[in-house]
Amino acid sequence: MKVPFFRHNIERADIGRVEKVLRGPVLTTGAYVRTFEEKLTAFLGVRGGHVRGTTSCTSALFLSLEAHGIGRGDEVITTPLSYVATAHVIEQVGAKPIFVDVDPRTGNINVDHIAEAITKKTKAILPVHLYGQMVDMKKISRIARAHKLVVIEDAAHALEAERDGIRPGMLSDAACFSFYATKSITSGEGGAVITRHASVADHIAKTRLHGVSRSMADRYGKLYQHYDIPVLGWKFNMTNIQAALLIGQLARARKIWKRRVAIAERYERAFREASIEFLQTDPGVVHARHLSTILVDAPRRDEILHALESHGIGIAVNYRPIHLMTYYREKYGYTEGDFPHAESIGARTVTLPLYSKLTDKEVSKVIETVEKILS
Ligand SMILES: *Cc1c(COP(=O)(O)O)cnc(C)c1O
Repeated sequence: MKVPFFRHNIERADIGRVEKVLRGPVLTTGAYVRTFEEKLTAFLGVRGGHVRGTTSCTSALFLSLEAHGIGRGDEVITTPLSYVATAHVIEQVGAKPIFVDVDPRTGNINVDHIAEAITKKTKAILPVHLYGQMVDMKKISRIARAHKLVVIEDAAHALEAERDGIRPGMLSDAACFSFYATKSITSGEGGAVITRHASVADHIAKTRLHGVSRSMADRYGKLYQHYDIPVLGWKFNMTNIQAALLIGQLARARKIWKRRVAIAERYERAFREASIEFLQTDPGVVHARHLSTILVDAPRRDEILHALESHGIGIAVNYRPIHLMTYYREKYGYTEGDFPHAESIGARTVTLPLYSKLTDKEVSKVIETVEKILS
């Protein structure tokens, strides 16, 4: 029996919705995108929130930083333990990522050390809700208010997440989501941003499409109208094809998430009994359970990865820390020991399969195989 690392949750009805788009005139940004944006706003429950669909979480993060005027000469505080996109977008707008080491218990940025990293150049905090466990946004927004900083959440893992009654987008200036191929709902590639600022949403509605004041769909079916370009923009607009794939998955997202929660809790029960280490969940957290990881001895990690693979278990590594990637080492002179907790997790972590389509038998096989290889 092989247990693939990921299987998506796309159903016949989702494909039917895509077919409808393909038989219609508007393949790019249009009514389906607007519908998805409305449904995601409702799903997230952010009062006064506005969603804009994008090509990816990366582009949503980039546009959010740009919309807040963050660029050359600015510093943005973030975590070294994330997918490289988190730091790359800071580089891409011309700013400098300032890493704060993670809490070794949770893998999330250590909120208590953020204030020490603030300088005159600091403009924003960009927290990541690692694996689906939300960072303490109440603490972060208190720090941000005291120092007049922008907060942009990388909520790529956190669509379903909550902490102390707070969900992504509720206390920040913007929160960005990913619909990449292995995320909890997916359009292959795709993303979205939610913001409580109407002006930011209006700006991103333009900058995701070259700065054009009217989209093709806005102009469709009317007499020709000229458009203007009030600002510089990029090409990051979500298409109707992507939105059509996502609308049905979003409607099922709670159900899909509940199945992941059940699997993750079964893993944790088994691993606790077998004294296999994993990261902890803080009190008050409703975990989105995007990824499930264990921690093994660093010198044996890669051997364990390969053993799991040769027993048919799909695995991944989330993440080897960003500051030790060659680009960041060479640009900023980072080296081993700079962020020891992120490095320790990065050297010890193994990600196991976690998705709603896993059968109970497959979950048993993962648990048995992990226990056999680690014993
Ligand atoms: C997947 C991911 C991203 C990037 O999302 P894309 O939609 O692929 O751009 C950013 N941050 C984190 C933490 C991610 O896991």
